Amino acid sequence: MSGPVSAQDAGDRPAGADPAVDGLEVWAGRKAEVGGFGVTRLLPRRPRRTVGAWCFADHMGPGPVSPGAGMDIGPHPHIGLQTVTWLVHGAVLHRDSLGSEQLIRPGELNLMTAGHGVAHSEETAGIYQGELHGVQLWIAQPAATREGAAQFDHLAELPRVETGSCTATVLIGEYAGARSPARRDTDHSGVELHLSGGPAVLPVPPGYEHALMVLDGALTVGGQGLVPGRLAYLGVGRQEILVEADGPARALLIGGVPFPEPVLMWWNYVARTREEIVAAHRDWSAATPRFGEVASPLPRIDTPGPPWT
Ligand code: MN
Repeated sequence: MSGPVSAQDAGDRPAGADPAVDGLEVWAGRKAEVGGFGVTRLLPRRPRRTVGAWCFADHMGPGPVSPGAGMDIGPHPHIGLQTVTWLVHGAVLHRDSLGSEQLIRPGELNLMTAGHGVAHSEETAGIYQGELHGVQLWIAQPAATREGAAQFDHLAELPRVETGSCTATVLIGEYAGARSPARRDTDHSGVELHLSGGPAVLPVPPGYEHALMVLDGALTVGGQGLVPGRLAYLGVGRQEILVEADGPARALLIGGVPFPEPVLMWWNYVARTREEIVAAHRDWSAATPRFGEVASPLPRIDTPGPPWT
């Protein structure tokens, strides 16, 4: 997914809200269009720009993909983050400057690590027709790896664990004793929950803050209703999260230890300083070898420089 993450969403200076102990905040996402396709941007949000290392969340669709219209995002750059793509319905073809070409389908995880720089495209034209529904999220990389090499991983098999009325698929990290093999540079997790209806108890580490987003159906958490297009932020200090599903529901639970470094996000870059972002954007606009080439039929995406230049 391509941002843009604008000052409207994230601000243009590094800052972050303190994690709220036992806190609960529910907010509505902002409608946006990415690659010709409707999304709801749930994160970042002022002042809460990160949940653990998770720093971006777009709920994509659901919406139709036809030969004339779909989600087609030409080659664009990333630094300092991992992209997580997870589908509920449909298919998307991922290509990147590492030479990867991978069709992603529901139940599979695409995890791209940008490090110092990578470029990718996401295509549906000529690939898929029908309903497209999914999420794309970004994870900020820590100082130890964010200047490192890029990597692409596709995980077609992920662990599942049943607890009461909930079946969980562990995309990243650990949940209820099950552990994903996905690369993880910080202490965080991402879990898809299939709830059959009624109450469910979600066991969580007390050191994590969490966000819960509904993909299908409706939940109640902490007395507040949660439907697609809204995000519930849950602060650190919980050992479990109690949810009540109105009926069958599908939700995504992301969490992690509050990210210790303030991140600065602009467009498709996650950095710490304006200078890093200016340098990355100069390299992308000049097509230097830093971001490489993507073998995509779509035109590469560029944008004017940051507003502070
Ligand atoms: Mn992207």
